[in-house]
Amino acid sequence: MATGIVGEFQAIKANADADVLAMQCGDFYEFFGEDAELVARELDLKLSQKGSGGESYPMAGVPVDDLTPYLRALVERGYRVAVADQYQTEDGHARELTRIVTPGTLLETTDDAATYLAAIVTGRDGRVGVGFADITTGAFVVTSFAGERAVERAITECHRFDPVELLPGPMLREDPRIAMELLDELDCVRTDHEERAFGPGAARRAVADQFGAETIVSLDLSEPAVSAAGALLDYVAASGVGVLPAMTRLRRYDPDDFVDLDVTTRRNLELTATMVPGGEGLLDAIDRTTTAAGSRLLAEWVRTPRRDREVLEARLDCVAALTEASIARSALRDHLSDTRDLARLASRATRERADARTLVAIRQTLAMVPRVIETVSGDPTLSASPLRSVLDDVDRDAVERLHDELAEALRDDPPSTVTEGGIFRQGYDPDLDDLIDRNETATAWIDELAPRERERHDLTHLRVDRNRTDGYYLQVGNSEVEDVPDTYREIKTLKNAKRFTTPELEEHEREIVQLEAARADLEYDLFEELRTHVADRAGLLQSVGQTLATLDCYASLAAHASDHRWVRPVLGPSTDPIDIEGGRHPVVETTTEFVPNDVYLGDDPRIVLVTGPNMSGKSTYLRQTALIVLLAQIGSFVPASAARIGVVDGIYTRVGALDELSQGRSTFMVEMAELANILHSATADSLVVLDEVGRGTATYDGISIAWAATEYLHNEIRCATLFATHYHELTDLVDRLPAAANAHVAATERNDEVTFLRTVEPGPADRSYGIHVAELAGVPVPVRDRARDVLTRLREDHAVEARGGDATVQAVFDLGTGTMQTHTADGGSSPDPNAEAILDELRSCPIAELPPVELVQRVADWQDRLED
Ligand code: ADP
Repeated sequence: MATGIVGEFQAIKANADADVLAMQCGDFYEFFGEDAELVARELDLKLSQKGSGGESYPMAGVPVDDLTPYLRALVERGYRVAVADQYQTEDGHARELTRIVTPGTLLETTDDAATYLAAIVTGRDGRVGVGFADITTGAFVVTSFAGERAVERAITECHRFDPVELLPGPMLREDPRIAMELLDELDCVRTDHEERAFGPGAARRAVADQFGAETIVSLDLSEPAVSAAGALLDYVAASGVGVLPAMTRLRRYDPDDFVDLDVTTRRNLELTATMVPGGEGLLDAIDRTTTAAGSRLLAEWVRTPRRDREVLEARLDCVAALTEASIARSALRDHLSDTRDLARLASRATRERADARTLVAIRQTLAMVPRVIETVSGDPTLSASPLRSVLDDVDRDAVERLHDELAEALRDDPPSTVTEGGIFRQGYDPDLDDLIDRNETATAWIDELAPRERERHDLTHLRVDRNRTDGYYLQVGNSEVEDVPDTYREIKTLKNAKRFTTPELEEHEREIVQLEAARADLEYDLFEELRTHVADRAGLLQSVGQTLATLDCYASLAAHASDHRWVRPVLGPSTDPIDIEGGRHPVVETTTEFVPNDVYLGDDPRIVLVTGPNMSGKSTYLRQTALIVLLAQIGSFVPASAARIGVVDGIYTRVGALDELSQGRSTFMVEMAELANILHSATADSLVVLDEVGRGTATYDGISIAWAATEYLHNEIRCATLFATHYHELTDLVDRLPAAANAHVAATERNDEVTFLRTVEPGPADRSYGIHVAELAGVPVPVRDRARDVLTRLREDHAVEARGGDATVQAVFDLGTGTMQTHTADGGSSPDPNAEAILDELRSCPIAELPPVELVQRVADWQDRLED
């Protein structure tokens, strides 16, 4: 081990559970050895050498005030960074580890999105607890799951919160299957925090200490939920970030309040992120919020649609009022845009290192609260809406008091350091005022010193100044140095001048230095006091922040609704149908001339099978329906001319294997796992959207699975279902199921051109459509005639014979039983394997989907082979 400064570095690093250590050395944070090489590489820092204990080590450093962006960059690249700070001791400096920074404990994020630290814990009784804490806002929630699929549901919940860092409980870490699933799917850092922190005793103590002794009982928390919360608290405390005081409230929530959305659905519907990076998801399309906190809340709403109609109606009332009161709405949005992120500021204010600018930002935001309230109460429509009660949550007196306290205390533009004074207004503290007065008197004496001395001693080139090494001095040019009086004592010789001091000046200087130190100390103490006072009001600031964010969300939904002529959905119980007139896709409509379509899913039909050629608009129709229901259940207006929505308890989707293949991730197994999940999870109150099922396997397997799934959804689950498929055979099935109906997306041919009309019409799609396209593309007449013939035979006789070769092989399709048999038509002789193989290919050929050119090639190939 090295000695000297590098030795100290290594000793601290050895005790820090981190990849990199930044150690303060005076005005810099330094990295040594491998750490220096790492940061030089990752952050483009200049590498130098440092001699220490007779050896030379690589060294890199950043100025103390510039650490934050480097810290952020390292953490975002996945490193755990330890920070050691320097402090004054009797005989010099010492350093100690002050923080471990990880994605979940990075307070200095510039991203407005929530940054959740999550814990997931399996209990001994099979229950699973999950907890989520956002240290940047102090938000802290827990819940737990029981029953057979508890782990799966808990993992789904983790996906909903999309944490940046996850602490799995000890038992879970030993379950390789679950751990793998978590790791693979969740895009976050996994940290195995000390097992001790998850223990029931330690966790209970941590929760009771933080949130009050009665919390566990009053919230009726399960043991794994307590364990998750306790581990999170312990981890945050151990990180040294110092924001525990901002975690003012633990909230337990019931996942059954929310619409179930599995991971696949969230991804398929592109709620908060798009499948292809860089695209526009639902949230991007509708987010008109003007504040970071509002945008965070809207994202949360989109992630957590609700089941409770009362909650939704209240939200819709607010949106409706703001849609109507457009002038008040824009005033409100203006005011909101002048506010800052109170929850985050509150979190920062609880840290000992908070600066005065944080408190000034809090003050400025609090100043906007009365204006926001006046805007709402001054408008008759708004004040008659439940927005009033949203504002009633604000403790106006407390807001005003805190605002006035801060306004009386702080200057408008305080420095970013808290150790050099300049923070407080006059009149805030008599002792401080006294110090400032005395300081001013003393400095006034110095200000007058130069003219006085010039005149008294007739020294034209005399000036008075101050610097770090010499303190205050009188400086006289060389031409006059001979004329200075005896009372001047020389302290320094320069090239063209000399510096002097006098007993009087020294005395004033001593006084000023003392006063300055006293002032800085006093301001620091006063600031600490004020900061603690504000930190104690973190709960108030968070609740005001939440109110402002809520208003921002409503105003955002209203602004978007008015601009795009969205309508208020009429919500009904889950037994009511989903009945949408003139529905549109909320994202596609922003960039495309959109053709609106109706949807009806109730008792009859409950299942609609949508057929139509590729690219006709099936997927869009399915997704727009799911998105309209989802929007209604976050309390938003919807893109339609009218909509009645029987609220759903879950939305489940899966999209075609081919679509996913293009994402390079799907196998048939994944497709089936998704289908399995839907069939297990959906209830009669759910909405299921299936965009192709069974495509990832051979035709007969695929159609059989799609068939069986359709029957199961229709007969057993009885949920509202939209099912797009290219299996035309299923349209016959649907004709026979009482609560199922066929629909298709229309297309026409005009002037040799196929036009997709994008309108959804009753009945199945024209099966010869693919051949039609083949015709338009110039496939030779004999081929398309034969194709038409084959199609007719398949449709009417469920049988077709293969021509050519020695024998004619007849294939019989029996859609009633889902079986197929082949016979050789001339009796006796055994089937020709060549013709058999061609027949198999013909049978499974997806006519409607193949590009015409390929279709031609295939038919030509069959002909060739039959000639042989
Ligand atoms: P499919 O699922 O049938 O292959 P898609 O739903 O992917 O077809 O739609 C194909 C294209 O048509 C997309 O670019 C989509 O934006 C556009 N589209 C679909 N429906 C409509 C509509 N109702 N109005 C306008 N454009 C639409």
